[in-house]
This record gives sequence, structure tokens and C-alpha cells, in this order.
Amino acid sequence: MNKKLIVGNWKMNPATLAEAKKIAQKVKKVSANLLHAEVVICPPFPFIASCVSKKTTKNFHIGAQSTSTEESGAHTGEVSAKMLKDLAVEYVIVGHSEERARGDTDQNISRRLKQVLDEGMTAILCVGEKARDQEGKYLEDLKNQIKSSLTDIPKKFAKSIIIAYEPIWAIGATEAMKPADIYETSLFVKKVFADIFTPDAGIKTLVLYGGAVNFRNAPDIMIVGRVDGLLVGRESVNSEGFVELLKAVDAVQ
Ligand code: PEP
Repeated sequence: MNKKLIVGNWKMNPATLAEAKKIAQKVKKVSANLLHAEVVICPPFPFIASCVSKKTTKNFHIGAQSTSTEESGAHTGEVSAKMLKDLAVEYVIVGHSEERARGDTDQNISRRLKQVLDEGMTAILCVGEKARDQEGKYLEDLKNQIKSSLTDIPKKFAKSIIIAYEPIWAIGATEAMKPADIYETSLFVKKVFADIFTPDAGIKTLVLYGGAVNFRNAPDIMIVGRVDGLLVGRESVNSEGFVELLKAVDAVQ
């Protein structure tokens, strides 16, 4: 059985490099002892290099929260996929709802994805509806979001794309989505992925859930929601809570 993948999106936290190193250190320590889970931490760009392990740490990986749409050149303020790869980044989050809310388009997301995949890293594509309705229109929106981000991506890259299903209304909320609904939606996501690429790619692609996950609700989301892993925001910079979460997920068979 595949190991579960737990991704911590630190967003614009913590405030100092010293704190970042401390959290990374704690996560590395607990990761090395996990049996059924792998961990990715996604620190802010300036902290990435200091969070990378000098020698390989079992079950521990470094991710980034985004990357430029461009390969190189005159793009002030941007960070390229090549630069991230050079720092030993293995995973890059693309299309997070907070970036979409700042105006990022599906077209840009598709270009970011291509940069990540061309560099041989794994892309974590975030998708999710703003709200749910009784008629199931949100499923249509979700499908369009996935399709328009992946349309120009060659089939050979399907194995390097993970989908993080994050209903926007659950991000930063007090309660996560109901695990049974997570299961239903993750199956839908796999079906859309299969339609874009191949049936086999649909079966194999990892689907993560994100939105108000903590150490208390994580086991139920894994067991009933039957997702391949979690994308964790707030709880990922609370090192005690995140360590508890990792242990709780690791205990789920
Ligand atoms: C997120 O922003 O991706 C997220 C899941 O946030 P939180 O866990 O804080 O809801």
C-alpha cells in the first residue's frame, strides 16, 4: 500500500528563520520514524534552503508554495522552477485558492504547472469550489477548473501531478468537510483526471484533502474520506499539533 502524503503549507509563516528552522527540525525528527506516511513541508521562499536536510531524512521532503509562469529573465519578484529545483525542492503547490483570489487564472496555473513538470518536480494542483449547491453545479465548476488547468499538459506528466481538493469554504474554517463527502468528491476528481489523461492515471493519481484539518479530525478524514493524504495549512506551523497529526495519520492502516 502507498504511504499517505501529508503536505504542510506554511503560507507566510513563521515570522523568523529561527522559528522556521525549529519547526522543520521537529518535523524531520518525527518523519524519520513514520511507517505509513511521507511528509512535505512548504516554507516561504526565503526559508527553503535552511529547511533542506544536509543528508536525506527518511519520509521528509521539501516543497514550495508556488513558482513563476516564466522560465527565467526580467520578472521582478518571481522565483523560477529551476531555482526551486536547485534548492532540492521536490514538490510545488500550484493554483492555491489564495493565489487564485489574488487574480491567478487557469491559464497562468497551467503555465506554472508546465514549469514545475519540465523541471522534473511533482506539482500539487489545488482545486475546490467556492460553495456547494443542492443541484450539484459545484461538480461542474470543479470539473471545469481541473480541465482548464490540465488541458495543455502532456499525458507523460500525469504521474507527476497530485490533486489537492480544497473546498474554499473549508479553508481557514473551524470545521472540515464531512469525511463521507470528501470520499465522494475525491472519486469525482479521479474520474475527471482519468477523462483528461487515461483510466490508469485516474486510478493512480493521488488526491489530497485540504481545509481545516487538525490532529483530531485527520484520522477520520483518512479512514472515511479515503484520501491519499492531506494538505494542511494552520496546523502545519503549530509544530506540536502537526507532530500529533503525523503520528495520528501514521497509525491509520
Ligand atoms: C490551505 O490553505 O491550504 C488550508 C488547508 O488551510 P487550513 O488548513 O488552515 O484550513
